[in-house]
Amino acid sequence: MNLILLGPPGAGKGTQAKLLSEGLGLWHISTGDILREELKAGSDLGCLAKTFIDKGELVPDSLVIKLIEKKILEAKGKNGFILDGFPRNLAQAKSLDSIFKIYNLSIDWVIYFEASQKTIVQRLSGRRVCKVCFANFHLNNMPPKKENICDYCGGELYQRPDDNEETIKNRLRVYLKSASLLIDYYEKQKKLFKVNADFNAEKVYQILLKTFEEKKPN
Ligand code: AMP
Repeated sequence: MNLILLGPPGAGKGTQAKLLSEGLGLWHISTGDILREELKAGSDLGCLAKTFIDKGELVPDSLVIKLIEKKILEAKGKNGFILDGFPRNLAQAKSLDSIFKIYNLSIDWVIYFEASQKTIVQRLSGRRVCKVCFANFHLNNMPPKKENICDYCGGELYQRPDDNEETIKNRLRVYLKSASLLIDYYEKQKKLFKVNADFNAEKVYQILLKTFEEKKPN
C-alpha cells in the first residue's frame, strides 16, 4: 500500500507516518526529515535548503522532486511507502504522477489531516524531535519516558528551530496557499480521505486502520 499524507504542519502527519510505518511495515519518506539530514551532514543541498527551511519557505521544487524520485526508487519493490510532506504544491503533485507512471506505481490513499489552528500551534510549540531518528514527541501530549531522551533510539531530543511562532505562521501561510488545489487534485482522482486530526494520535491511528480495512479506493 502506498500513501500520501497531506495537511498543515503540526497536524500529526509525522506521528501517524511513524505509527503506520511500524504497524503496516511501510517505508516512511519525509521530505522534511531528508532535508534536515542533509543539513546535519553539511551537504551542498543541506546548506541550500537551510535558507528556505529557516524562513518556513518551500525548498525549490526541482531539488525536492529529485530527492523524492531517488527515495521512491529505493522503496520500490518493498511493502509500500508513506509520503509525508510531499507533495506540497500542484507542480510537485504532477511530477509525482509522472514518476509513478515511469516506475509503474500508484497511490492507494491520500489522507488529508484536518486540524484547527489552535491544535496546530499547541502541537508545534510543544513538539520535540529526536536528533538521531527524527521521532516526534510532545511535552504534554506525548512526553518521552525519560526527559529529553528518545524512547526509540536513546537519541537527544531538541526543538526544531522552525517551530518558533514567527516561522510557524509563515509555514501555515505557505501551506494554505496550495492546500485547496492539492485537495481538489486528489479528490478528482477519488483517492482523498479526510480525517479529523484534532483527535489524539491513537484515535486518529485507529480511524485510519479502520478506513483501510473497510473502504477500498476506486
Ligand atoms: P516539514 O518537516 O514537513 O514540516 O518540513 C520542514 C521544511 O522543509 C518546510 O518548511 C520546507 O522548508 C522544507 N520542505 C519539506 N518538504 C518540502 C517539499 N515537499 N517541498 C519544498 N520544501 C519542503
